Parts: sequence; C-alpha cells; structure tokens
Amino acid sequence: MWQVVERSRSVPLLKSSLERGRLPNAYLLVGPAHVGKMTLALTLAQALNCEASEPPCGECNVCRKIAAGKHADVQVIGLSPGNGKEAKTKTEISIDQVRAIQHDASLPPFEGKYKVFIVDGAERLSNEAANCLLKTLEEPADKIIYILLTTNEQLLPLTVISRCQKLELLPIAPEKMDTVLQERWQIESPKAKLLSRLSHGCLGWAVTTAQNDSLLDERKAKLENIIGVLNAGITERFAYADQMANRFSKDRHSVSDELELWLDWWRDLMLVKVGSDDRITNIDYAKEISRIAEDYTLSEIRLFIKKLQEAMTQLDKNASPRLVLEVLMFNIPGRK
Ligand SMILES: [Zn+2]
Repeated sequence: MWQVVERSRSVPLLKSSLERGRLPNAYLLVGPAHVGKMTLALTLAQALNCEASEPPCGECNVCRKIAAGKHADVQVIGLSPGNGKEAKTKTEISIDQVRAIQHDASLPPFEGKYKVFIVDGAERLSNEAANCLLKTLEEPADKIIYILLTTNEQLLPLTVISRCQKLELLPIAPEKMDTVLQERWQIESPKAKLLSRLSHGCLGWAVTTAQNDSLLDERKAKLENIIGVLNAGITERFAYADQMANRFSKDRHSVSDELELWLDWWRDLMLVKVGSDDRITNIDYAKEISRIAEDYTLSEIRLFIKKLQEAMTQLDKNASPRLVLEVLMFNIPGRK
C-alpha cells in the first residue's frame, strides 16, 4: 500500500517510526497542492488502524472505511470543497472546528486503535484556531495523532511547527511521472505525457484527471477562453473580469484554478522566449505558444507574470475581486 507514495523520502521515515512503535504526537506534511499530502496522511491513518499482518493492507474493512472518509476515528477538518457547503466561501479554519476535534479527542477511540485528526490546509488556521490547537499539541495524549497538511509552512506559527515532526513531499519530475502513469496506471502515451506536464509533479491530480475526461475538456475550454481574452479588446476583457468576480463570491477555488491556467500559459511564453521550449506545460499548444510568444518582449512577459502573482496574492488576502481582476485585465501587454 505504501508504494502509492513510495517516491516520497518521507515514507521510509514513517515506516521506521511505525515499526519501532515510537510515533510523534503530530506530523506536519509540507508540499505543493495535489502532491499527495492527503493520500499520505490517510495511508498513515490506515497503517495505524489496519488489522492485517502487514499494515496498511488497503483492503480490510478498516482500510476501506478510512479511504472512503467513513471511519469514526479518522477525521479531516479544513476548507476544501469536500469539507462542507460553507467551505467554498470560507477563508479560515475556525476555532470552532478545532474545538470540535479537541472534544472528540477527549473520548476514547470508537472503533479503531488510534484517533487521527487531519488538518487540511493548516496555513488557513485562524490565529485563535492555531493557538487553540497549539495547546493540544503541547499536551500529547496516548493513541492520538494530529497530521497537519500545508502548502506553505511559513504561514504557520513557529510554536505549532516546533511541536510537529516535519515531512516534506516533493513533486515528481515529468519524465518519471510519464513512466509511472503508463506502467502503473496503463494510461496511453500522449495523454500520459500531457498529464505529466499539466500536473506539475502531482501524481494524485494526474490520476484523477486521467480517469475523468471532462476535466481535460474543461481545461481546454478555459484555455481557449483565455486565448480569446488575450486577442480581445478592453470591453471583452472587462466582461471576463466581471464574470470571474461574480464566480469568485460563490466558488473562489474555481477562480484560483483558472488563474493558475493563466500563470502556466504566461510561464510557457517565457520559457519559449528563453529557448526552453522543451519545458513548457501546455505541450498540446506548443505551436500556438511559439507563435504568440513572438508578439511580446521578454520583459513584457515577466512583468505580466509578476502582475498575475500579485493579483493571486491579493485575492487570497480578500481584496475586492472585481477591482483586482479589472486591474489585471488592464495590465495585459498589447500584442505587436
Ligand atoms: Zn487494512
């Protein structure tokens, strides 16, 4: 079962602490989005509760319940869309969410051997929620493990980090991912190659997307829309900003994902400009990217990438989405 994430250097570390039966009270899993932090956390929860002789087996009742999110002793809190209706518009993990798991931790395991609490997107803990969690981490209890997942540990208080054993998950290189997708998941070559680029080294994302063709169709439609916006006049660009801003209030994740597509596109233009065509993400648009790159100077491309990153940070900090997106549209450099 561990082979799902065998590429991670963290796995040997985890395995040896399990074998010695000496586990820290809390782990901090650090790595980019979709790199497999949640998979590793759930695998650890399985390893702790599985009843097979070589845990985690992945097949027993316990393992299957944990994988399906239905095990009473393994709980996840966070902001991802899977964590409740409100999550799409919420920006912080609240103190109430932390208190709820603290209350639960005070009761003995319901059906398992260990209670495992996973905090998804720990960088989103509100200050008071982080302080509340810290108190728990300072008073370790038997058979209770906390696993914090984060894309950016710098946003977490040092006091929290110092209470956790840190494990870093690194993205997989595109060439290796291409091989894994073909050999282990039987995904045919052109698709495996494209996914290995689009996933930015995150195997979980690549596998999910491979199994759902509508996700690739959706990406294509969004990309065509972006190309359309780049060719359009200011009125159409503002209409696009308006539509994105409206969507942001209902589903901020979908807008962030679309801005990631913008970022990939402009990074590709930059890579082509500096002669690194072989490193672009959108390999199915290689010809188009080469052609469009001729219309901009390298400094124009660099400057717009900076503007995009600024816009993404501002949206994260709850600036007015309409204003941020309109300014972004205004900053698109003119084509030759
Ligand atoms: Zn099992």
